[in-house]
Amino acid sequence: MKPAILVIDMLREFVYGRLKSPGAVEIVPRISELISKARERGIPVIYLADSHLPFDHELGIWGPHAMRGDPEAEIIQELKPVENRDIILYKRSYSGFRETGLTYVLRDLGVDTLILTGIHTHICVLHTAIDAFYERFKLIVVEDAVSAFSREDHEYALKYMKNILGAELKTTSDVLKILSEL
Ligand code: ZN
Repeated sequence: MKPAILVIDMLREFVYGRLKSPGAVEIVPRISELISKARERGIPVIYLADSHLPFDHELGIWGPHAMRGDPEAEIIQELKPVENRDIILYKRSYSGFRETGLTYVLRDLGVDTLILTGIHTHICVLHTAIDAFYERFKLIVVEDAVSAFSREDHEYALKYMKNILGAELKTTSDVLKILSEL
């Protein structure tokens, strides 16, 4: 297995701001543990970050959020990327694969398995998982390191990723163990 960890939208606006999910703060230490382990084991850590332009299609649904250049669009301090080591790709819609070059980054790195963390389970995590499926990547969703607006949103998205996209659902401690053994 050649995994990469994806850290999806752990931005100030989504963790502490207007579009926060109640469980977002809770998953921060788990993601922190996962990315520390990945760095220790030489596994790529890839951040996908909303960075919207004022005319983006999606803003018609949510209103302005994570606007490019706004401090609210920054990755939270607790999960700060390591410069010249981690990868940050900016996106303008739900999926981390759309117009970001993510597919080519993953192919260049020789990655075959994506470990998904971040928010929101039923929006950007789900859409990134759907595109990962079409691009033929294996999926592991860290079920206690993703979060949504409600328990119901979280549960249906996990169920969809498992049943329809063939994702494996694992806990943070499962994944830490897998990464240690690689
Ligand atoms: Zn957005």
